[in-house]
Amino acid sequence: MPNIANDPNRKSWILVPENSDFPIQNIPFGVFITKEDVITIGTRIGNCAIDMGALQQLGYFDGIELTDDMFMQDTLNDFISDGRKTWRLVRNRLAELFDENNSLLRDNKDHREVVIFKVEDIEMLLPVQIGDYTDFYSSKEHATNVGKMFRDPENALLPNWLHIPVGYHGRSSTIVPSGIPVHRPYGQTLPNGETMPVFGPSRLVDFELETAFITTDANLMGEPIPVEEAEEHIFGMVLFNDWSARDIQKWEYVPLGPFLAKNFASSISPWIVTLDALKPFRTKGPEQSPVPLPYLQQKGEKAFDINLEVLIKPENSEETVVSRSNFKYMYWSMAQQLAHHTINGCRVNSGDMMGSGTISGPTEDSFGSMLELTWGGQKPLKMKDGSERKFINDNDTVIIRGFCKNDKVRIGFGEVSSKLLPAIDLKIE
Ligand code: MN
Repeated sequence: MPNIANDPNRKSWILVPENSDFPIQNIPFGVFITKEDVITIGTRIGNCAIDMGALQQLGYFDGIELTDDMFMQDTLNDFISDGRKTWRLVRNRLAELFDENNSLLRDNKDHREVVIFKVEDIEMLLPVQIGDYTDFYSSKEHATNVGKMFRDPENALLPNWLHIPVGYHGRSSTIVPSGIPVHRPYGQTLPNGETMPVFGPSRLVDFELETAFITTDANLMGEPIPVEEAEEHIFGMVLFNDWSARDIQKWEYVPLGPFLAKNFASSISPWIVTLDALKPFRTKGPEQSPVPLPYLQQKGEKAFDINLEVLIKPENSEETVVSRSNFKYMYWSMAQQLAHHTINGCRVNSGDMMGSGTISGPTEDSFGSMLELTWGGQKPLKMKDGSERKFINDNDTVIIRGFCKNDKVRIGFGEVSSKLLPAIDLKIE
C-alpha cells in the first residue's frame, strides 16, 4: 500500500501557517466536539479541524471499505482496529482531497461549511477509549539519574535494566486530554528522619516528559508479537505528561513499583500522529550493549527524531522552557517494548496506550522531570518572572511540545498543556 500522503511536495488549499505542526503531510487523527455538541472523528490541517464523519456522510470516502458510521463515533478504536491498510487508504484519500489541485471539495462551499471548523471553535476529546495503559522506563539517562539519587551512585542501573524494557501496568481511568486541569493529589508520605508516615497533599508534584504509542488489536492471548512485526500494530503517537507525586512515590514504591503517586492523572496531546507520518524521521538510536536476547533484536533504524520541550507557565506570567530533549535518546524502541510486552502471551487491544517512560537526554538541560532537572530540589530552576521552582507549584501550567523537522517538512504533535490546581478540600483529617 503506497503511502502517498507523505509526499513532501504536496500543498493544500487550506492555508498552513509557516512552522505549523499540521501540514498536509501530517494528517493526524483525533476526536472533537463542535459548538453544536456534535462529536466526531477528525483530522487537522493548519488551524482547521476537519469533520471526517461529515466527509463520510457526503461520500468522500466512497470506495474504501468502512462501516457506515466509522467516523461518527466518539473514539478511534474501531478505525484503529481496521488495521494499517485502512489507515493508509484514509490518510491517502484525505491528502488527495485537500491537495491544492483538487477542486472537488475546494470549490464546494456548502460542503466546506459542514466539514471544516476553526480549531478555536472545537474542543478536543480523548481520541481513544484506553483499555489498558502500560508505562515503560526506557531512558538510560533517566534510569541512571534516578538510580544515582535514590540508591547507589556506583550501581545506578539495576542488573535487569540493560536486558529488559522495564515497565509497569498503570491505570487508564485517569488519562485526560490536554486542557483538563489536574488537582494536587493527597497521599501518605514519610517525612525525612521520621518513622511514621503523615497524610496530606503531595508537596513534590512533578511532570514526566514522555511520549506514548497507541496499538491496534495486535494479537490473541498466548501469541507473542515478533519484534520485526511490532510496528505494524502501532497506530501512532501522542505527547504524554505522566504527572507524578515524588514524595508519595518514595514511600509507596517498594517492593511493587509505582501506584498512587502516578495514577491520579496523566495528560496527553489530543492528535494521534501516525507512525506512517513519522517515517521520514527514523533514525538510528543508541547502540545497545550488551546485545539484547534474540526476541528483542531489532534491525534497522529503531528510533525517531522527535524534538521535545517542556515549559512551565506560572499563573499570570510567561512560559519558561525548562527542558529540551529528543525521543531519539530512548534506549529501548517502541517495537522492542511491544515485543517484550507480549512475549509471555499478554494480549494487546485496539486503543491500548504505552508510555515511553521519562525521556531524559545526556545533558542537564535535557532531563525529563523536575526531580532530575533540580536534582531532587537541590538546584531550583529560575522562571522568567524571577520566581524559582523545585517542583510544580499550584496554578502552574505544564506544557510539552514536540515536532520533527527536516529540510522539506515539519510534522508536529501540537502540545499537551495542563494546569496543576490546588488540592481539593477533602474535609477529613
Ligand atoms: Mn512515567
